[in-house]
Amino acid sequence: MAPCRARALLAYQLPLLRAAALKKGSRGQWAAKSFAHSARLASGRRQSVGGFTVNQDRLMNDLHRTCKWGTGKRWGSLDTETGMSRLSLSDSDKKARDWFVETTMALGCSVTIDEMGNVFAIRPGRNVGPPTCVGSHLDTQPSGGRYDGILGVLAGVEMLRILNERDARTHFPVGVVNWTNEEGARFPISMVSSGVWAGEVPVETAHGLREVRGGTVTMRSELERIGYLGSVPASHTSMPMAAHFELHIEQGPILENHKQKIGIVTGVQAYRWYTVQLTGRDAHTGTTPFDARADAMLAACRMIACSHDLAAKHSALASTGILTLTPGSVNTIPGQVKFSLDIRATSDATLETLEAELKAEFSRLASKDVTKGLDVSVTWQTDTISPAVDFHPSCIETVRASALSVTGDTSLFREMVSGAGHDSVYTSRHCPTSMIFVPCRNGVSHNPEEFAKAEDCATGADVLMQSVLRFDHLRSEEEV
Ligand SMILES: [Zn+2]
Repeated sequence: MAPCRARALLAYQLPLLRAAALKKGSRGQWAAKSFAHSARLASGRRQSVGGFTVNQDRLMNDLHRTCKWGTGKRWGSLDTETGMSRLSLSDSDKKARDWFVETTMALGCSVTIDEMGNVFAIRPGRNVGPPTCVGSHLDTQPSGGRYDGILGVLAGVEMLRILNERDARTHFPVGVVNWTNEEGARFPISMVSSGVWAGEVPVETAHGLREVRGGTVTMRSELERIGYLGSVPASHTSMPMAAHFELHIEQGPILENHKQKIGIVTGVQAYRWYTVQLTGRDAHTGTTPFDARADAMLAACRMIACSHDLAAKHSALASTGILTLTPGSVNTIPGQVKFSLDIRATSDATLETLEAELKAEFSRLASKDVTKGLDVSVTWQTDTISPAVDFHPSCIETVRASALSVTGDTSLFREMVSGAGHDSVYTSRHCPTSMIFVPCRNGVSHNPEEFAKAEDCATGADVLMQSVLRFDHLRSEEEV
């Protein structure tokens, strides 16, 4: 699909919704507000909007059919029992994108591609205005699964199919968004394109991101190569949304352990990514005694172990996923080591403290007092700061009411905080947002064996569709 086939951006001229006028608090989050409809939504009355339910078989067929682009490691004997390796802006990602554009256009949507390759498929409503959107991502980890991100987009497509079949006309437009490079696996800023949309990542920074592991291509060159460098600015002002709902697998074990079907996601924990660079001195392994070494690798090992211990002390998490060293020779002590560090906690304050302690400890571990040889120098580069997020109370209530109407049983759902970052983090800065989780087997994700039952995917898709329809209805009553 070439960008020229996308229709021009709709110009939303109507007055901004009241939701857009909600005040933001000091953390940049939407302030809590008492909503007249909240009590009604939470009252426990079983009702679905329009009695619509998704077609489970079609949803799963679509999902597995599109997973032929970028199929990864096999773990079972069935055709569908493979992982995924669909890196952002790769040839396989282009094919999945082309399918998404062609399918949604055939369903009557206008499609807009912005300068980050974010794809917005918008189905018109009775009134003009920003769309109520569902969104997620079609890219995967290099060794990822079939559900992370993909389920959220495909559930949106199934919603469009149901609305068309039922000849439903929503009050306002509804849309489905595919966000580019959510994973940050190929171009090393996660959620980078929703970040540009939110005005939090400069487009030049995003376009200039180089492929990890020494690649030479950039996001911009790959967007251009696969025909997804749109001309519309990636911006919440060019492409406003009335709300953003995201269906996602939990990627953790809580729902499964509690035999529950739906997680009502109230927010996202904070995380920060760093690149830590150590400089020691290349030296001969046989002729250099320990007290004459500046062994960057040994220092890195101590730092990584230390990050684990300090994070545990604060009930936080710390992980290293990328490590490179040079020169990479059996009989040379490495003089240069670079590693990634990912730290996470439920509050920003905890991460502040952890970062400060890590910096102090790494300096100590690099000093000759600890190396018992020469000093190793340490530099930190902050790659991503993602503050803790509180989702919008109105969207959370909408999801709760939808979970109740779909499952009919309050014991089948729970409120949770997401441990992973998602595009909804950035959309929440500019429009009411919340997420819906469904269980995945053993809580495993970012792994080829990632698996969610078809019926759980369909339940999640039903809650997603009901949430969109409920929100659309509330908009018509000017309650959001
Ligand atoms: Zn995801």
